[in-house]
Amino acid sequence: PGPQLPFDPDKKTLVILGSGWGATSLLKNLDTADFNVVVVSPRNFFLFTPLLPSVAVGTLNNRSIIQSIRYITRHKARNVSVIEAEATDVDPVNKLIKFADNSEVRGAVSSTAIPYDYLVYAVGAETQTFNIPGVKEHACFMKELNDAERFQNEFIDCLETAGFPGQDPQEIERLLHMVVVGGGPTGVELSGELHDFLEDDLKSWYPELAGKVRITLVEALPSVLPTFSKQLIDYTQSTFKESKIEVLTKTMVKEIKERSVILQMPDKSIQEVPCGLVVWAGGNKGRKVTQDLMAKFPEVQTNRRGIVVDDFLRMTGAEDSIFAIGDCTSTAYAPTAQVASQQGSYLARHLHQMAKHDELQTKLSRLEALAATVVGEEEKKATLRDVEMTKKQLAKIKYRPFDYSHQGSLAYIGSEKAVADLPFMNGNVATGGVATYMFWRSAYLSTLFSLRNRTLVATDWIKVKLFGRDVAREQ
Ligand code: FAD
Ligand code: NAD
Repeated sequence: PGPQLPFDPDKKTLVILGSGWGATSLLKNLDTADFNVVVVSPRNFFLFTPLLPSVAVGTLNNRSIIQSIRYITRHKARNVSVIEAEATDVDPVNKLIKFADNSEVRGAVSSTAIPYDYLVYAVGAETQTFNIPGVKEHACFMKELNDAERFQNEFIDCLETAGFPGQDPQEIERLLHMVVVGGGPTGVELSGELHDFLEDDLKSWYPELAGKVRITLVEALPSVLPTFSKQLIDYTQSTFKESKIEVLTKTMVKEIKERSVILQMPDKSIQEVPCGLVVWAGGNKGRKVTQDLMAKFPEVQTNRRGIVVDDFLRMTGAEDSIFAIGDCTSTAYAPTAQVASQQGSYLARHLHQMAKHDELQTKLSRLEALAATVVGEEEKKATLRDVEMTKKQLAKIKYRPFDYSHQGSLAYIGSEKAVADLPFMNGNVATGGVATYMFWRSAYLSTLFSLRNRTLVATDWIKVKLFGRDVAREQ
């Protein structure tokens, strides 16, 4: 079956996989009059990932940082078909997408396939575990909304369990030891947010546990935030020291057990460290559907970091029909929201030009066929004039390559401090502290999805200031 709702046989079908940073930015900027547009994503909402660690500790409500993808599509010029499903296979030869509804409620039909003329592949990445034993079974991830919800629930459970009558001191110590693995921005921001919770709320909600919770951040490399400038790395490490967040660098997690982590220390010795909760923020890995798609181009898609694309974001090997953006790709840029959203808006412009090109090409073929058949002298001349004009219009269409403009890197490190590497007059300014935190807050508030999200997040911040964080646990 073909795509359902907006089908117009004169237009090409554009299928967009995903509803994250890349896909959403594309959808916001896309002229839907150009194509039959179909969006397929297992998540029917956009998630504002930068504020996910704030949800994990209850500073923000989970609903405040998401927005239904239909919020964009319903305002578009032409109807967009949104399908909540997971793409399971891409067939680049027959230009077909197979997808399945893997949610809890399924109908009699829960898997099907649709054809595409152009595909925008924006499925993001999943969390890299390096197949380390116990990670999937015992650690919390910090990538999706349900990861943050799970963390919040388990964290509060650790606090409540530590308060159970008769718990011996060693067990209390274990339950109140939180281990964060990965000193990239995700691990650092979560540690900072967790520290804020302990400082601001633990004393009032759990006075008997105040001062007993420990946070350990484990990083295999010699420093945390390796992509930030040296000055900010030092600033982060010294802020963490003041905040009593223990940072173990050059230390590798080898295994995660139900009640402990196994660490390989810098001197290669092995230590088993008891803990109540482990958060795994070990970086990105391509999804299976991406690996399967890449395997269909064994000669050219061999980069383990992700899909290789050209300067126009076309997938190498499938340049005529597949574009790939965001975390599923391997490019010169870091896998960030900034890059994915710029790629999305670039692609919206690029696709508009392609649609214009296709339209003129069809017109040209029609005029050339007409010119070959018309008999009247005047009519022939006029048609040939139209042919020439259309050719000129076609020649004017120039495709510009994607050009990334780096707006800087920002990370919250707790204690109302943030760090920022900002490009400034061909150089770089590294700043850290409370003023940077205010900048962090306003930058994220202004880039939030909608006025609704901005209002909800601002209200949550005020609520936490007035009433503290919500420590009620979901059963
Ligand atoms: P995503 O935003 O992950 O979107 C992928 C989409 O594809 C999702 O909608 C998903 O449901 C969908 N999908 C998954 N599988 C399938 C499938 N089989 N078929 C169809 N659809 C599928 N970057 C920054 O620049 N600044 C920050 O401050 C920042 N903070 C972050 C904080 C956290 C906690 C995390 C985890 C990341 C952060 N990032 C930040 C990185 C940023 O979130 C990613 O780089 C960005 O999400 C990539 O966008 P994307 O569109 O490629 O993927
Ligand atoms: P990351 O890849 O940046 O960091 C993961 C870290 O985990 C690495 O430093 C790695 O050495 C460490 N690690 C992996 N396995 C380990 C092990 N067994 N033991 C100890 N350490 C281990 O991952 P991330 O922090 O999730 O970030 C992913 C992407 O999202 C990055 O591009 C990042 O820039 C972006 N991001 C940006 C922000 C921001 O700008 N504020 C916030 C979050 C994420």
